[in-house]
Amino acid sequence: MSGLGLNAAGAHQHDAHDPLAAFAAEFHHPHDETGRRLVYLCGHSLGLQTKSTAEYVAQELIDWQRLAVLGHHAAERPWISYHERACAALAMLVGAEDTEVVAMNSLTVNLHLMMVSFFRPSGPRNRVLIEKSAFPSDRYAVVSQLEYHGLDAAEHLIEVAPREGERCLRTEDLIACLQREGPRLALVLLPGVQYLTGQALDLAALIAAARDTGATVGLDLAHAVGNIPLHLHDWNADFAVWCSYKYLNAGPGAVGGCFVHERHGERSDLPRFAGWWGHPEATRFEMGPQFTPIPGAQGWQISNPPILSTAPLLASLDVFQRAGMARLREKSIALAGFLQSLIEDLLPRAVQIITPGEPSERGCQLSLRLILPGPEARRCHERLIAAGVIGDWREPDILRLAPAPLYNSYHDVFLAVEALARAVGS
Ligand SMILES: *Cc1c(COP(=O)(O)O)cnc(C)c1O
Repeated sequence: MSGLGLNAAGAHQHDAHDPLAAFAAEFHHPHDETGRRLVYLCGHSLGLQTKSTAEYVAQELIDWQRLAVLGHHAAERPWISYHERACAALAMLVGAEDTEVVAMNSLTVNLHLMMVSFFRPSGPRNRVLIEKSAFPSDRYAVVSQLEYHGLDAAEHLIEVAPREGERCLRTEDLIACLQREGPRLALVLLPGVQYLTGQALDLAALIAAARDTGATVGLDLAHAVGNIPLHLHDWNADFAVWCSYKYLNAGPGAVGGCFVHERHGERSDLPRFAGWWGHPEATRFEMGPQFTPIPGAQGWQISNPPILSTAPLLASLDVFQRAGMARLREKSIALAGFLQSLIEDLLPRAVQIITPGEPSERGCQLSLRLILPGPEARRCHERLIAAGVIGDWREPDILRLAPAPLYNSYHDVFLAVEALARAVGS
């Protein structure tokens, strides 16, 4: 048997012994116009739809038709407390108490709301530390918050870059920068998994080092939630934000989420942008003039939540609860390892994996640098799409592939690498 044949047989073997294999059938997998099922390795960008999503959304449409305003209390899942149904599963996924999490808004909006409360520049402690290649939206949000406080980003934004010639951040470099800037830092904002390289940071160590400086610590978990195990409560992060359309499979523009550590949950000295949904339900409809925040993360809610974009989140969280994060992580490590070994076997010269090789330093995404001259790399990605393999492309030369343990198989990984080998012409 050739290398390809051996690897195909290996993939089938792994799939036959995969305890989570049945979950793939709970998702809609996309097809091309000829009806061919696509190999979808793009869950880091938009997760697939669970088959139960349609029922969850239909239930709300029916209850709205049937009950109109009475649905707030009489719907199958009453709208007044609808968002609370996400709390237990979100708390499980991020390692928090139920009262520390809330499903609301979208990621960048939540980041702003958290900075209103937790970025409080005062005296010389007026800088924000982020990573140099932070997701643009995060950087825009931070710079605009600095400017809102009358602070100049050129002086007050500290950006930590990978070393010359390296792609990933080193924990020791981040810690050295934290120690150097210590007394000047008001806020440290870190990613859980870096969106471009797929690197998972050592959050336990970095949060501890950042808190030692006296700064508050926030996390952007866009690529971490539902991907790697998180222990936000024990790690002592001050806040975290995430979106739900990536690994959480809640659909385009789905309602995002937010974590606020218990130690801030009942503080009355924090400024916040308030709205009626942050006020306790028991007295909300007395319509009094005085805002009293709900203790915990729910006290940061502003508006009544979008039921139709929360329904798919509940559908997906139900799947996560049944699969369990420990089993998902185990499969994720094996799937990413399989992807890595096939690439190293079949594409040793055309592809460089820039994601760390150590499982504890990555989630399920591998970022591949295509070592091809100029526009040839981009054409290679186009050939991959034509072959029915969906990853995504980041200029100038990065292909991101993420086998999601909930719905991808080892065979998917095999098909992707086989198509990639053809696309690069090796
Ligand atoms: C996907 C992503 C976002 C998206 O922000 P939205 O407010 O949901 O549009 C933000 N930050 C990071 C790191 C991301 O990966």
